[in-house]
Amino acid sequence: MRDASRFDLLVVGAGIVGLAHALLAARAGLRVGVVERDARANGASVRNFGFITVSGQGFPDTWRRARRARAVWAELCETARIPVLHRGLLMAARRAEAEAVIAEFAAGAMGEGCRILRGAELPEPLQASRIRAALHSPHELRVESREAIPRLAAYLEEALGVTFLRRRAVLAVQEGRVETSLGPLHADRIVACPGTDLVTLFPEVFARRRTTLCKLHMLRLADPGWRLSAAVMSDLGLHRYRGYADCPSLPALRARLAAEQGAQLDNGVHLIVVQSADGTLVVGDSHHYDPTPDPFQPQTVDALILEEFEAVLGPPPPTIERWVGVYPSGPDDAFQEEVAPGVRLVSVTSGTGASTAFGLAEDVLREMQVIP
Ligand SMILES: Cc1cc2nc3c(=O)[nH]c(=O)nc-3n(C[C@H](O)[C@H](O)[C@H](O)COP(=O)(O)OP(=O)(O)OC[C@H]3O[C@@H](n4cnc5c(N)ncnc54)[C@H](O)[C@@H]3O)c2cc1C
Repeated sequence: MRDASRFDLLVVGAGIVGLAHALLAARAGLRVGVVERDARANGASVRNFGFITVSGQGFPDTWRRARRARAVWAELCETARIPVLHRGLLMAARRAEAEAVIAEFAAGAMGEGCRILRGAELPEPLQASRIRAALHSPHELRVESREAIPRLAAYLEEALGVTFLRRRAVLAVQEGRVETSLGPLHADRIVACPGTDLVTLFPEVFARRRTTLCKLHMLRLADPGWRLSAAVMSDLGLHRYRGYADCPSLPALRARLAAEQGAQLDNGVHLIVVQSADGTLVVGDSHHYDPTPDPFQPQTVDALILEEFEAVLGPPPPTIERWVGVYPSGPDDAFQEEVAPGVRLVSVTSGTGASTAFGLAEDVLREMQVIP
């Protein structure tokens, strides 16, 4: 009989980063266990937009991982029956400087497949009267994370035989051994993906890598009566997303944003709008950095997000739900490090985990010689 405490590979954390490692390792034929302290994933992975973004991701690693991850998501959505709610990105340019940035991006290597839309080419609800042009990127996917993540976990369990050890906290990890609140577990390979817990496992690594936490405000708005064909972003997103950093017109756009939207910049506000199957909109977000983010969601910050929504899409429908999410933040978009023989610590230290986790997991598992 098999020893129930022994696995080929143990994953700590059942967020998207942990699940991505579990998927690829199980598909490679390994006996995989996932240890999760909560009854189900409840962190960033279910609080995000479910927006799998390619265009705008930082070059080279985040963009490369996003392209790989997008391909895995596309296949997985079919196999695990996860609905894709819309495809593509419309980066709406409100200002001449933003129009110049999207044109420069579209003309560059990362603009492959992207087009600039103007006037009558702009799909509803974007209107030429409100914006100058939009970059259309065909690469993006959108899933409903609060449903997609449990469905992915169920697929791993039922179709690939992954064992989930839930409501079990990992207290320490060392070579070959994971100490948990319900006794030890064993595996030759261990991948720790603890999300926002920067203090239980390898706190010295998070400290050395200058990792902190970032709090985001999120809103759900009532069905506006129109349908989005793709996710919508705006000028503020060109400022925040690292993939536009080399566009020659970006400094001019930044100067105008600083003069005209200082309150949005001070609160890290930019606009992402995606739509759910019932027509409601998920809208965000803001960025406030603190090692212990407070749980509060001041209306003043939500108003800054809705102000940008109105400028791009017209008067916002009523807000029907609000929540905050937290992710780790550091100088790089992500890191992975061998912290003991056969043990990796993996952390997405930016708001890109839904978009990159499968690509990052490929890099990690290739180095661990789990996949070719
Ligand atoms: C509001 C918001 C919006 C975002 N939007 C997007 C987006 O549209 N697109 C995108 O690509 N990214 C987005 N992100 C970022 C993305 O959600 C994260 O990068 C990603 O979810 C991180 O996944 P994770 O598995 O590392 O973390 P988490 O989802 O936080 O999961 C970590 C898990 O590890 C468990 N855990 C931790 N320590 C232990 C322990 N010691 N023992 C047992 N279990 C443990 C936790 O309980 C948790 O379930 C967003 C994030 C937020 C907060």
